[in-house]
Amino acid sequence: MAGRTPILDCASEIRRFVARREYSEAVRRFEIVASWTPSSQRSKLAAEIVRAGGRITEAALTKAFARASCYFCRDGWMLCDQCEGAKTFAANGRFCDACGGLGRVPCTFCGGSGLLALDASPAVLRPKVAKRRIEWAVKLLQEVTRRVGNLRRWDVASTSLADRLRLLHSAERASEAAKEAKRVVASSRSPGGGRGQRPRELDLAGVCRKRGQALAEALATAIAELCLREAQRHPAGSRRRAIWERQAEFYESGGGRS
Ligand SMILES: [Zn+2]
Ligand SMILES: [Zn+2]
Repeated sequence: MAGRTPILDCASEIRRFVARREYSEAVRRFEIVASWTPSSQRSKLAAEIVRAGGRITEAALTKAFARASCYFCRDGWMLCDQCEGAKTFAANGRFCDACGGLGRVPCTFCGGSGLLALDASPAVLRPKVAKRRIEWAVKLLQEVTRRVGNLRRWDVASTSLADRLRLLHSAERASEAAKEAKRVVASSRSPGGGRGQRPRELDLAGVCRKRGQALAEALATAIAELCLREAQRHPAGSRRRAIWERQAEFYESGGGRS
């Protein structure tokens, strides 16, 4: 087509992938074009793409970087390198302390948020990406709060351990994402602070972090309860009982969180 440029094509591809919620793929499109330019020009390139594609492209590119996945993990989890995912050690049947018997540990690159590092986004967009990510964390925590409300109403026996573990992980992901985004928003404030107004996102991120941690604590307690209940179904002194008791202890003491 006459008049089309790689930049314009890139802008429309980014919009297309974001519309399909394929955020990592949208980021990949940006990175393909960025790989032709020196890394010092990433911001300039992002600005060019936004200029070519207009405001909807800016929104799409921002959302893509806010929601793209971490390159090193899946949803914030990595295989535990102590037990290699086996949860217990085959040689002696001992419970893996490194992962608390989960077989996986929070990703060391993204801190467990499962999201692409904010520093990987072009500097010109980064504060907006961070704000967008805080909005994502707020929504995720609202969802977890709603589910935890249900959890309290539900009969304990009817809520599966898997459900509680998933909710715990979501609370931790949101909390971790808010922490990183808060740092970026704080560091992007101009020296002197402009009109001296504190961005609303900073407070929102702080609230997210606290809320996420409180939810994670409540969920860890609820998980420990279920593990103890499970332990009691096995004969005293049995290996299964010991494993469940150890699991309960792990969550009572914070579930590997420091
Ligand atoms: Zn392990
Ligand atoms: Zn990761």
